[in-house]
Amino acid sequence: MNQSVPDVSPATLEVVPLGGVGEFGMNMMAVSWEDTTILIDAGVMFPEPDQLGVDLIIPDMTYVEARGDKVKALVLTHGHEDHIGAVPHVLPLFDGPVYGTAMTLALIEPKLQEHEIDAKDRLKRVKPRDRVTIGPFTIEFVRVTHSMPDCVALVITTPVGVMIHTGDFKIDQTPIDGEHFDLHRFAELGAQGVLVLFADSTNIDRRGFTGPEIEVIDAFEELFTSTQGKLVVATFSSSIYRMQVLIDLAVQFDRKVAFVGRSIVAGRAAGGAAAHRR
Ligand SMILES: [Zn+2]
Repeated sequence: MNQSVPDVSPATLEVVPLGGVGEFGMNMMAVSWEDTTILIDAGVMFPEPDQLGVDLIIPDMTYVEARGDKVKALVLTHGHEDHIGAVPHVLPLFDGPVYGTAMTLALIEPKLQEHEIDAKDRLKRVKPRDRVTIGPFTIEFVRVTHSMPDCVALVITTPVGVMIHTGDFKIDQTPIDGEHFDLHRFAELGAQGVLVLFADSTNIDRRGFTGPEIEVIDAFEELFTSTQGKLVVATFSSSIYRMQVLIDLAVQFDRKVAFVGRSIVAGRAAGGAAAHRR
């Protein structure tokens, strides 16, 4: 990216992906109108095996630095690392608030502690159907289902029309926490007219449906019944639903649970409250 980023021309809606297009991870997008830029997500990408010594890859922040104090807010869709992992690296580059749901912000707090960033008062908790106004933009948060709890899409009303950014989603009709995908709101927005839709899915080019999370319970129950010794389950630390299912089954089958792995142990501390809320 060039060192100098031109000013957004007057009365132009400018949408610039800073990562996450045609690659897995590092999701981040800048949306600008005149003197206001909002950032959507700030994710990391995990290195390939040949990138020795590299722990994490973050988006190129040249654009954010060039927009300077025109960057007014960071808005988050959900708490996966490829959407929030770079938050500690973005926060020092601007002054405004960070909007996210309770779960998303709970996963950010330990990152700020780890990086010794004192920004807790900048974290603004939102819930589905809430609206916030940032300069010429109004942002509404709409519930979507995904492989972790408390995910939202963003409906951004701009001076030239409505822009929808879905965040990550899978339409799970039987979500484990009972928080349903707000299809009704999307239908309303569709009827009213949408300027542009940004939707992303890792397996967009595969036909068919992704099964609901609840289906794994039967498979696990089978394993819990048929296994005499230890059971080892590999999971992402953000797969809170999956962990809750496993813990419930452990209780049911009178088994002890041991957490292994840095993110699993840290995530348990951060996500525990939300995971036990249901
Ligand atoms: Zn995700």
